[in-house]
Amino acid sequence: MGRFKPPENECDDPRCPFHGHLKIRGKVLEGVVVSDKMSKTVIVKVEYLKYYPKYERYARMHSRIPAHNPPCINAKVGDRVRIAECRPLSKTKAFVVVEKVE
Ligand SMILES: [Zn+2]
Repeated sequence: MGRFKPPENECDDPRCPFHGHLKIRGKVLEGVVVSDKMSKTVIVKVEYLKYYPKYERYARMHSRIPAHNPPCINAKVGDRVRIAECRPLSKTKAFVVVEKVE
């Protein structure tokens, strides 16, 4: 986990990449938390550009990605965060919040 800034707090969540056993691999994305209503899960909106060769233009796209929110990071709505891909944690969740972006 050397490439991410470790959180200031500690936690005992086994599904925490810093204090538990969760291994991260694959994609790392950056986005904004748009929902924190579920326990230990946030929805992160990730914006990206998609190129259409026919029109020679980029379109602004976004996706909403459910991510595990370990108690030591505890991201809230409006926070800009970095999320990393991990094993599937539930039917829809295969990302975990690894740091808040200043
Ligand atoms: Zn933790």
